[in-house]
Amino acid sequence: MKAIVFADHKSGKITKAGLEAISYAKGMGAEPIVVSYGSLEGDGGAGSAGATEVVVATAIQQFDGQKLTRLVVKMAEEKGANVVISSHDHAGKMVAPRVAARLDVAMVSGATALPADGNVRKNVFSGKAMADINLKTDKQVITVMPNSVGISQSEGTANVSTTDFDGGNSAVTVKAFHPLSTDGSVPLPEAELVVSAGRGLKGPENWGMIEELAKELGATTACSRPVADTGWRPHHEHVGQTGVAIRPNLYIAIGISGAIQHLAGVNASKTIVVVNTDPEAPFFKSADYGIVGDAFEVVPKLIEAVKEFNANK
Ligand code: FAD
Repeated sequence: MKAIVFADHKSGKITKAGLEAISYAKGMGAEPIVVSYGSLEGDGGAGSAGATEVVVATAIQQFDGQKLTRLVVKMAEEKGANVVISSHDHAGKMVAPRVAARLDVAMVSGATALPADGNVRKNVFSGKAMADINLKTDKQVITVMPNSVGISQSEGTANVSTTDFDGGNSAVTVKAFHPLSTDGSVPLPEAELVVSAGRGLKGPENWGMIEELAKELGATTACSRPVADTGWRPHHEHVGQTGVAIRPNLYIAIGISGAIQHLAGVNASKTIVVVNTDPEAPFFKSADYGIVGDAFEVVPKLIEAVKEFNANK
């Protein structure tokens, strides 16, 4: 069985979400053939996650959903792929549904586990239920939720080849990319550690301690929707039903009530820590660890504790 894995990259390296998509293909028992664009450093790390082959379209220098769709379709047809896999991130969401439409095959978006008994599992109803979806076409397209499957470890490096396929014309021209995060932190969908805060913080001037805690932990910052709506924090930090859906290993929620729409985007986190003054706050029902206390007292203590831990590592 062959899998075409569409993988995005950053600074020449396949993204963590891309490596997870490769691992997913490997976990299915498929031979992962990675398709990427622009320029990679060597195999971009694809071989270390189990890919045997990497094809880079050097003529497509920037991310372009239409061009990359044509590239992935072409590669899937040329290589006789049984399945096309990508991460369920911004890049994958732009490319995978178009690929499924062009190939006229079934698709599951946001798979959270490897196929079992022919079914692919995903979360539905804002994370309140799981569905096992049976794909009835011979060929299939699957996008994989970041942080759902681990990255498989392999000793090998993949064979890298290039194609001069330029993807043809695009109905839109991407003029420039403006990275949302310039502080070097891991993008939210890929982050394993997230420190998030809500209206309990009272105002944007109080975010210094949230940023400091995140920095000490090596975490990415997030926020509740009203915090982004009122301009206290940028919109790309807003998590929840109408924001980014995440599943980090650790989600620390500070001064967030835990409304159902917020939980929809974070309740798949592996460990949830809640800091809230109100012992009746709904978030405590979803928490693994809860601290009933004032953020302005608790967070500085957490920062000190993490600093001490880091100093003694
Ligand atoms: P609040 O509800 O105001 O809660 C603040 C919390 O801080 C309280 O629990 C309070 O006890 C605590 N607190 C106060 N002071 C302190 C202190 N000093 N220390 C510690 N704790 C303190 N929301 C999202 O977040 N994401 C979404 O995607 C989203 N989508 C939505 C979609 C729809 C259609 C609708 C209708 C709503 C959506 N919402 C979403 C909004 C959601 O319903 C809640 O209103 C929102 O999550 C509340 O944000 P909050 O918890 O920051 O604020």
